[in-house]
Amino acid sequence: MKTMKKIGIVGAGFSGAVIAHELAQAGHAVDVFETRSHVAGNCHTERDGETGVMVHVYGPHIFHTSSERVWNYIRQFDEFMPFTNRVKAIARGRVFSLPINLLTINQFFGKTFNPEQAQAFLESVADKSIDEPQTFEEQALRFVGRDLYDAFFKGYTVKQWGMHPSELPASILRRLPVRFNYDDNYYASTYQGMPRRGYTHIVQRMLDHSDIALHLGTGFARSMAKEYDHVFYSGPIDAWFGYPEGRLGYRTLDFVTERHTGDYQGNPVINYCDQDIPWTRISEHKHFSAWETHENTLIFKEYSRFCEENDTPYYPIQLAQEKSQLKHYIALANHERNVTFVGRLGTYRYLDMHVTIGEALDAAQRFLATRSHDAPM
Ligand code: UDP
Repeated sequence: MKTMKKIGIVGAGFSGAVIAHELAQAGHAVDVFETRSHVAGNCHTERDGETGVMVHVYGPHIFHTSSERVWNYIRQFDEFMPFTNRVKAIARGRVFSLPINLLTINQFFGKTFNPEQAQAFLESVADKSIDEPQTFEEQALRFVGRDLYDAFFKGYTVKQWGMHPSELPASILRRLPVRFNYDDNYYASTYQGMPRRGYTHIVQRMLDHSDIALHLGTGFARSMAKEYDHVFYSGPIDAWFGYPEGRLGYRTLDFVTERHTGDYQGNPVINYCDQDIPWTRISEHKHFSAWETHENTLIFKEYSRFCEENDTPYYPIQLAQEKSQLKHYIALANHERNVTFVGRLGTYRYLDMHVTIGEALDAAQRFLATRSHDAPM
């Protein structure tokens, strides 16, 4: 097929790669620019030279979605192996099951409740004076009560966000379910799995197309946009404009790697909910690829802190100050004629992988639909 418009894509994470793939398939010539030396953004996976374990270099990424469209799409690029995320939590020196479920409640309170009794019990300890929870703390007190909040959420959240839960929005806690049965699947999604060859392999395959030129280790200045008919930008929205409203705040993560023999903790992820332990969680990467066998093991101790200028941004902070900065950046973005802002950094939202992929497919489809009207006759 004859190539059509020239498209610039900034960032080779899932957003950029999905859009590049879709537009190249439709016959567009695509240039992808990525400042890092690898593709896949924070989903990047690579084998550890010493242990042979597939490492989630920027922390654990577990694929889950309830969208059949996204599930079918991603599985074109690798085989997905069965995986269910069953997180354990260490709180007050004891091990519990997360998200809070019937086992957690019974073990924590030393009870043998059935589902109905557990529900009635949590209702009895919940703070019902809170009508419409606004903060993380209110949300927790309203739905699980003081004891479970103190044990599982307070210390972890202070470590994760560097703030008291009374300063954080309720929406953060709403990511987690509370279950009155023994289902300890961390996610409520219809589909869940791990790519056999890792996320980087998937992104490489998306970008492996004769009409895609990938430029690794290469930035993209705003002035380069004029060389393209359209640009999809998945870098930080504030950086595109040169920070006229100041930098948007993020949390970043530090991972301290250790290698051990055998099995270190017997589970992919264990959260540490007590505040006197400085890390938030430990991930043991060979358990993310349970179909592989490795004699030795590699773990990450994960620490969260404020993201400084040269750190890797992870979690948008999204408090009042950031929301007002973002409003200005969105207004500026709306004035850009040939640039579409996509992804976690481009829209300053905390997006799971499946949401990013769904939105990238939508962005590509919208672009193709509008461009089909002005295609040469
Ligand atoms: N959280 C907590 N204790 C836990 C796990 C999570 O307090 O053991 C809180 C924490 O504030 C976190 C939020 O719940 O940011 C959402 O949890 P999730 O597992 O979705 O965090 P993420 O995947 O973003 O790291």
